[in-house]
Formats: sequence, C-alpha cells, structure tokens
Amino acid sequence: MNKPLLNSVAAMDAAHQIHPHTNLRKHLETGPNELLVRGEGIQVFDETGKGYIEGAAALWCSSLGFGNARLAEVAKQAITDLGYYHNFRGSGTPQAAQLCSKLADIAPDGMDKILLQSSGTEANDTALKLVWYYWDAMGAPQRRKIISRHEGYHGTGTLTSCLTGKVKFHEGYGLPFSEFHYVTQPYYYRKAEEGESEQEFSTRLANEIEELILREGPETVAAFWAEPVMGSGGAITPPAGYFEKVQAVLDKYGVLFVADEVICGFARTGEMWGSQTYGIKPDLICCAKALSAAVIPISAVIVGERVFEGMMAQSDKRGSFTHGYTYSGHPVACAVAHEVLTIYEEMDLVAHVKSLESAFLGGFKALEDHPLVGNIDGVGLIGALEVVADKKTRAIHDPALAVMPMLDRLTRKHGLITRLIGNRIALAPPQIITEAEVGEMFTRLKAALDEAHAAL
Ligand code: PMP
Repeated sequence: MNKPLLNSVAAMDAAHQIHPHTNLRKHLETGPNELLVRGEGIQVFDETGKGYIEGAAALWCSSLGFGNARLAEVAKQAITDLGYYHNFRGSGTPQAAQLCSKLADIAPDGMDKILLQSSGTEANDTALKLVWYYWDAMGAPQRRKIISRHEGYHGTGTLTSCLTGKVKFHEGYGLPFSEFHYVTQPYYYRKAEEGESEQEFSTRLANEIEELILREGPETVAAFWAEPVMGSGGAITPPAGYFEKVQAVLDKYGVLFVADEVICGFARTGEMWGSQTYGIKPDLICCAKALSAAVIPISAVIVGERVFEGMMAQSDKRGSFTHGYTYSGHPVACAVAHEVLTIYEEMDLVAHVKSLESAFLGGFKALEDHPLVGNIDGVGLIGALEVVADKKTRAIHDPALAVMPMLDRLTRKHGLITRLIGNRIALAPPQIITEAEVGEMFTRLKAALDEAHAAL
C-alpha cells in the first residue's frame, strides 16, 4: 500500500471493506477510487472538494439528488417517536399504513395491495415467492418455470441472480437453477437482423417466448419477468410493439407478468410507471430506489388483484401469510418514503420529467453524428449512447485501447459521472434536474467524447 494511504480513511477502506463489482486484489493495493463526502442538488463532491453532476443518479436511484435536509428531519422525527417496530402478526405503525396508502394511490389501476421490503433484490425475491405461492393456491404447483431476458437485471440474491440474465452473475456460484429460462434481449441496434423493422423484431421476440412456453409446456410456466426499460442491461428501450406482443403471448397461456420497476418506477420513463409508458398490465410490480429517493433502504411489491386472491386463499388454508423480514415496513424508512412521495406530488414529478424529456433526448440527438457514437436511445429521463469505432459497420474499439475506461476518466475530469455498461454510456440523472442542468450535463459529456476522439 502506498504511503499516503496509511492511517487515512482510504487505508481503512482498502484494508477492510469488500466492495461489490470491484477487483479485490487491486483494491487491497490501491484503495478506493474516490470518496464522496457531500452532495447538493444533482451534484456530489469528493474529498478534494471537486463536484460532479451525478448523471446516473448514483445507481439510478437518487431521484431527489443529494443532501436533503427535509428528509433528514422526517427521519429524525420517526426515530425520536418510535424508532422501530415490526409489522408481523397484524401489528402496525402509522408510517407504514400511510406509505402503503399513498403508494396504492399512485399504483396502476387494479393494484392496491403493498408488501413492503428493504431492497430491489428483496422485492424481486419476494415477488418470485408470490408467483410460486399463487400457482400453488391455484392447484398448479408445477407452474415453476420463469422466463426472463438475457442481460436483464433483477438483483443478486440467490434466486434473483437466477432472474438476472447476466452470465457473470451466475458464474462461480453454480447458478442458475433449472427453473430459469432466458430469451433474447430486446436490443434493436445489436440484435435485429438486417432489414428487420422494429415491429418485425418485436414479433420475432414474442414468437421466441411463445415457442419457449410451448416447448417447456404451458402448464409448467409460471411468470415472465422484465424491466420496462432495461437499466443495467444498457439503458435499452423496447422496440415498437414489443410489450404489446409479449403481453398477448403471456395472456394466451395465463403466464403472470412481473414488471421490475426498480429503475423505471417514479416517472423515470415519463409516466409514473414504465408499465404505463409501454401499456404493460403487470400482475406484480417491484419498486425500490426512487421510492425513498435512495436515502434509506426500502422497497415494495405492488400486488395486483389476481395474485392477491391467491395469497388470501393460501392464508385461509394455512392460517397466515408466511413471509416477512424484521425490517419490512420499518417506520423510519416508511416515514421518509412517504415524504418523498409527498415531494413528488408537490413538484408534479410526472409533469416535470415530461417537460424535460425533449431537452434530454435532444442532448443525445445532438451527439448522434459524433464520430464515436453509433447509436442513441432513451425515453423520459433515461438514455444511452453507444460508443463505436466505426459508425457504418458498428464495430467496437479494440479492447486494448480501453476506450470506455478512458471515457470514464474524461467524463469525471469534466465533472460528470455516467454509468458505463459495455460500450454504452447511460444517463439517468436525478429527476429534480432542471433544463439548464440537462444542457450542462451534455456539454460535459461532449467535451469528454471530443477529448477521447482526439486522443484516439
Ligand atoms: N432490479 C433492477 C431493475 C435493478 O436495477 C436493481 C438494482 N440496480 C435491482 C433489481 C436490485 O436492487 P437492489 O440493488 O436494491 O437489491
């Protein structure tokens, strides 16, 4: 370890913290890349005082930006009043009841039952249990199989890693289990065949799902799992007609639809729910992240009528609903989330995001002709551009050139943090961003792209 790290916070981190998605040996030697110590609005500041626009809202989650004193006051009050109580065996707190009621108010029609959890992974894991519980209640316990998409992301618990369609989350862990099946990522730019229209591509992908259901036996297929816009899979919007065609196949065979709205929920795509943007009729919605503006861990499964009927039948049969965590419905987290939803109401979140959409997508559009940009994609306040070596052939750069790490360094140099996914640079800024800040974010991104282009 180099000298300046000794006895510093960085040294403590290097010596003791195991970081996700980090090379552990390198981290022992070099310590953290940076330490973020403060935030204000859409910016975070490192220990040297340098500010960055958080163009990805940290992990797609800091919807209200950083350093929010109003939320701190609410948390303080809830800790002072009670601090903690559980919701087992019918116990309750006003905070949990009020949050569930407010969330039910903004949930899509026909979905007004809320199961509180603490993370996106927990919400997806719980939703999976509910799917199996539902089919058992329906006298079809053999309906176990789950269909999700390659490159979809639904968490990294044991079962949620199986829902996640990224091979690197399976390797080394002996996953996935045999119930999990994956279909093509709806990534038009890379996965469509030559000359195939978006609608044709969508038809092909829906057919693929139908063929899989028929091959496996419809009586064994439980649910289809999807993010309306794929986040960690590359900030990929679905091709025209995709969800309409997929939903028709699922309806034909009675397969449940679980919408993972951990990123898309709370107006990220321009409507309150990504499901509304794309006309999806989900049976279950998983949400987290912006539910509390990420300042405190909390998530929820929003349960539609069909599944709730099954859950009630199970609890009639077995005496109670046997699932729950110590921290599900934590009153401090619920109080904060309730305040976050109140702020969304006050700022008219959906209208705000809609009013920014053309500036945001226009920022990408203005970069479309940049020599390094092969493709742009986006909706609402989530989008990405794809970096290529050759716009015509769509060839990517030689990995030896390390273009994406270079772009990461350069965007940071220009005071912008983005989310890099493969060759894509994704942006999903805090929803409180203003039009002027959207402009500034793209100015910084362009400066980094220009500098990278000059260096290449
Ligand atoms: N689903 C989606 C769509 C996500 O983006 C994430 C987190 N990035 C998760 C689930 C898992 O959430 P968490 O990290 O809170 O467990």
